[in-house]
Amino acid sequence: MVLFTKESLETLRQRVDLADLLSSHIELKKTGAAYKALCPFHDEKTPSFTIQKGDSHYHCFGCGAHGDAIQFLMAHLKLSFHDAVETLAQRFHVHLERIEGDPEKKGPSKATIKEALDLAARFYHFMLLHSPEGHIVLNYLYQRGLDLNFIRHFQVGFAPASHGMLRRVLHGKFVKDEIMLEAGLISPSKDGQGYRDFFLDRITFPIRDASGAVIGFSARKYKEETFGGKYINTPETVLFKKSKVLFGLNYSRKRIAKERTAIIVEGQIDALRLIQEGFNITVAGQGTAFGEGHAKELMALGISLVYLALDSDEAGQQAAYKIGNIFQKDGIEVRVVRFPPKVDPDLFLRQYGPEAFQKLLGKSCDYMTFLVQFLSRSLNMDSPAGKNELLKTISQQIRSWDQPVMVHESLRKLAFLTQTPENMIGVGQDFIPNIHIKKTASIGLQTIEPDRIVETDFLRWLLLMGDSKEHFIDIAIRNLGPEDLQTNICRHIYSTYLSLHDQKLSKNLLDITIQSEDPEGQSFITELLQKKVNKDKAESLYIEAIQRILDRNWMEQREAIKRQIQSGSCSDDEAESLLKKFDELKRNQPKVKES
Ligand code: ZN
Repeated sequence: MVLFTKESLETLRQRVDLADLLSSHIELKKTGAAYKALCPFHDEKTPSFTIQKGDSHYHCFGCGAHGDAIQFLMAHLKLSFHDAVETLAQRFHVHLERIEGDPEKKGPSKATIKEALDLAARFYHFMLLHSPEGHIVLNYLYQRGLDLNFIRHFQVGFAPASHGMLRRVLHGKFVKDEIMLEAGLISPSKDGQGYRDFFLDRITFPIRDASGAVIGFSARKYKEETFGGKYINTPETVLFKKSKVLFGLNYSRKRIAKERTAIIVEGQIDALRLIQEGFNITVAGQGTAFGEGHAKELMALGISLVYLALDSDEAGQQAAYKIGNIFQKDGIEVRVVRFPPKVDPDLFLRQYGPEAFQKLLGKSCDYMTFLVQFLSRSLNMDSPAGKNELLKTISQQIRSWDQPVMVHESLRKLAFLTQTPENMIGVGQDFIPNIHIKKTASIGLQTIEPDRIVETDFLRWLLLMGDSKEHFIDIAIRNLGPEDLQTNICRHIYSTYLSLHDQKLSKNLLDITIQSEDPEGQSFITELLQKKVNKDKAESLYIEAIQRILDRNWMEQREAIKRQIQSGSCSDDEAESLLKKFDELKRNQPKVKES
């Protein structure tokens, strides 16, 4: 976890201009002392999304969406708290000082590396459009049906065949070799004497993070004799993590989160073509090497349905088998799109157009049907032995999944598809879900403390909803003081929030982070925001969280009195009055005072 100094966060807070930030994501219109826009969080025809000039919060009168710059980036681009802070720092040119002892402090900063990568992307793009060798490549791209609009929009480029050009250009812009190395643009030459360009004589596609900054490249060869695979990617760097990076996600992230649906393809060109044709819910993994890490990135956006639009060759089908399992086992529905032989998504779109592709999605088959067909290819389905083996293989695979409902439904489907009685497959019989701890990267040990869980729940509602629902704060004050919270960090955050409220200061997330006394506050806020909130039920869940804290404290008070009586250290009179107190307490279970 990266932590930043209070001073640098304070500078950031002063620099953030909400209207300026929002204007690059939505169309803001100035009306008097306010800005108005069509709300990005709900569908509407007349604008009800507003920012008062100079205010650090936005508000929508239509759907009640409300928040500050960080909350906007988190809600709109689905960034984490830390990524949102870093994005703001970059946008408003604030250098974030890291707290001493942070291991990531060594080496050039991420912002410096991103600048080098941005320059490289522009250099490659320029070389494609304006150099003689680039023109040969340009022709190749035209033949593949990519037009100039496409090339400009996605900043497609060309890494020239001759060594050293990129380095010379970047040196001219004062980018040092050290930074180019960290960016994965060059690598030490084999004799150890100098450097060699990482990408040579290839078409380059920039890969971007959620905020649109270039973090690496995917480079495709355009002639057979070029050394190496069809695509090579930037090596592992501080920015580019091969096991997580999804190509195209920066274009598709928003709609994937909104529609909870994604299309997965193999190739970079496939992804960009689909995105350009309006299917901006598409991503490409690293070819067919799509793994758990990539799946997690999509699951973090809350997807419930995935289309696998992989090539129809054997490698593509094997990949569909493997990738499909990764999603199904987590309860996410998988559908497999089928292309005619030797046709990939790019070719299909060029030949038949987007409407036909939409129809193809509609005709896609569910994962169980795919699985039965895929695995029965090598078995003799007319013999009982063959059928038996198929059933055994598939039902074992299904039973290894995590989601009981998915397991149950899939077993039923298997019975139906293979025309086998359900009880033979054991539908509903061994309904013992696999008991194992799910590996969730972001949950630390502290989150299994029950006190901390219930107090964090309460704070989550208050911090996220308190600004738009003023009475949330009143309810909090009426029922709980900081001393009623037992976890140190929760008490800190709560009293910080209350004192900002007392002083009538804005309570945006950055302010609370800056003011919370210990540096742990930053990581706590990240943790707090990781869980999504269901705004429709905000009120009742908020009351419930407070009630749980009251109940806990009530129980503990009783326990304390009981211990005192049982300790034998008090006189009879004392014991009697304690007993009275105990009974009275027991009769009066606290109830949340709502008004
Ligand atoms: Zn709205």
